[in-house]
Amino acid sequence: DAVTPEKAAPAPAEPAAVAISSRERVIFPDSGQTKGELADYYAAIAPIMLPFAARRPISLVRCPQGRGKKCFFQKHDSGALGDAVHKVPIREKDGGSEDYLWIEDVRGLLQCVQMGTIEFHGWASRSSAVEAPDRMIFDLDPDEGLDFADVKSAATHIRDRLADLGLVSFAMLSGGKGVHVVVPLSTGHDWEVHKDFARRFAEALSLAEPDRFVATMSKAKRKGKIFIDWLRNQRGSTAVLPYSARARSGAPVAVPIAWGELKAMKDAHPYSIDDAKRLIDRATSRTLAGWGFAEQDLPAV
Ligand code: ATP
Ligand code: MN
Ligand code: MN
Repeated sequence: DAVTPEKAAPAPAEPAAVAISSRERVIFPDSGQTKGELADYYAAIAPIMLPFAARRPISLVRCPQGRGKKCFFQKHDSGALGDAVHKVPIREKDGGSEDYLWIEDVRGLLQCVQMGTIEFHGWASRSSAVEAPDRMIFDLDPDEGLDFADVKSAATHIRDRLADLGLVSFAMLSGGKGVHVVVPLSTGHDWEVHKDFARRFAEALSLAEPDRFVATMSKAKRKGKIFIDWLRNQRGSTAVLPYSARARSGAPVAVPIAWGELKAMKDAHPYSIDDAKRLIDRATSRTLAGWGFAEQDLPAV
């Protein structure tokens, strides 16, 4: 894999030259997909995933022996991921600094997959400006036993309350149980302002409809309700990135959807890593044009 002058020159359509070992290893035991199929999914999906995943600190869910076996959540550089997985030092609360990971291309995605990654999670800020959040996420976590219909109506309710404040938002099915409501933001405010807005917004919703929403993490208080997990919005938190695969049964993926499509959705995992072609067709259709992008600031408080 020598770097020839041709390869070093800007070449947008450069093939993904990452060797994937153990391509036949089954990593989704209940649905049968292999490591090779997961790598092919990420290679195919890269053009539509990278606009959301590139150049921001990421955490990885790695399951080297497959999702049935031990998985771990990796935030920091372990040195072994590959030359397309870059590092950015980030100040820690205790005053020290740790190297976090970021990628910018399909090689970065695939080097992570080669090392057993299934899921990609991202910070809400860029690696070049980690103190400047640029997206707010309300992660709707339904209590067990709630219908997906309740999650859908909660998501559109949140969309409408955000719109009341002049904010455009977008829906993403997590690939698990819930919906993430994503609010793209211009940078220009810090994490304190970001977190404070998210907390107050979630608390206001739960105060207005306490039987329906809860804004505190406490499991006991969540019975029969939807937890509006605003804690994705503090410095150092991550959320699953659009088009990431999930280490869950059936190899589902997190998928952006248009608000108009939400009603027809039966659950939060309608697509899997087998659906790269359909996902790409969707992403380039009118339905999803502009998903996740808006120039807007938090309202002044
Ligand atoms: P679901 O719709 O099923 O809730 P989700 O991705 O929203 O799917 P959550 O359990 O709500 O899952 O997780 C929220 C976020 O917490 C994840 O997206 C991830 O970024 C972060 N997270 C998950 N596991 C860990 C971990 N071990 N350490 C730190 N953060 C984690
Ligand atoms: Mn969630
Ligand atoms: Mn959550």
